[in-house]
Amino acid sequence: MGVRIWEDNWLPNQQGFKMWSPKPVGCDVSHVFELIDFSSGLWKRDILQRLFLPFEALQIEQIPLSSMENDDQLVWADSPTGFFTVKSAYHCIRTWKEQENTSPSVATSDHVWKKLWKMQVLPRFAHFLWRALKGVIPTRQKLWNKGVRCPMFCPRCDNATETVEHALRDCPWFRRVWFASPLGFSWPNVVDQSFSAWCHEVIISAPQEVGEIFATVCYHIWKARNLLCFEGKDTSERMVVSHAMETLTEFQETQKQVRVAAVNANQRSGKLWRAPESGVLKVNVDASGSGSRWGLAVVVRNSFGNVVAAATKAMHVELGPEYAEVCAIQFGMSFALERGFSEIAL
Ligand SMILES: [Zn+2]
Repeated sequence: MGVRIWEDNWLPNQQGFKMWSPKPVGCDVSHVFELIDFSSGLWKRDILQRLFLPFEALQIEQIPLSSMENDDQLVWADSPTGFFTVKSAYHCIRTWKEQENTSPSVATSDHVWKKLWKMQVLPRFAHFLWRALKGVIPTRQKLWNKGVRCPMFCPRCDNATETVEHALRDCPWFRRVWFASPLGFSWPNVVDQSFSAWCHEVIISAPQEVGEIFATVCYHIWKARNLLCFEGKDTSERMVVSHAMETLTEFQETQKQVRVAAVNANQRSGKLWRAPESGVLKVNVDASGSGSRWGLAVVVRNSFGNVVAAATKAMHVELGPEYAEVCAIQFGMSFALERGFSEIAL
């Protein structure tokens, strides 16, 4: 078994050792060994550049390759030998604790986390905001600190170091986005407050709807920044806001429809849908059709009743409705496992 690119922790210089670049749709490369040209003993640069964000492609290319054809092996990163020892684990825990205590962020508390996951926004928006709060989004300053030699200044205004604060709040261009958003935020100059402290105020003290707009706009600001950085595509301030708000409204409408459909289905079946406990995802499946033509559906919801993922599939079933139900369960389970959901209830 080789090391998996998007699932395993294998990047030595990355936060959490995990890949940040998203897996491209339809990508058939899955393991690290597929990125290596064993005849030359080098990384396959063309594949790296095609699959990963430029800074990550560079990071991979800088990993030295062994000339011996050993099997992949995962090692303990905090000891020089790669073997786990109690002493190195103790040292590691102390370092984490120190980092936690010196972190400027008061916003990384359970309270903020819970508020974030209650938001009626696409999970990736909440997740992005969480990463921004933890200070682990790949801004240019962050990359420099990790040893990646890229430009330091903001790709938008080229007038200040690109920190999390600058990239999501202080850049004049993004200040105009915030002002044009339904939140109408406006401030004259650079705010003397960390991004996490600033978010803390917005998320904790404001109504949930404000937090939802905030998370959505943050995500779209970063998306516009990446489009400019990696594809040279410019987006207007107005477009960022209107795209963000369209996505938010569309998602919340779908959630409403799913809730209505769930209530209707419960009324038909006489059963009440129950949310799973915190940290567990509930997988509901259904098969509908007649004769040999059947449609299978799966909906995955979290403990707040929000839809995390959903899918449908058409199939021919010759053996009747009971068999179709079994197919739906199998479809639901493999769909959930493919997406890496491990704590699930059916
Ligand atoms: Zn800027």
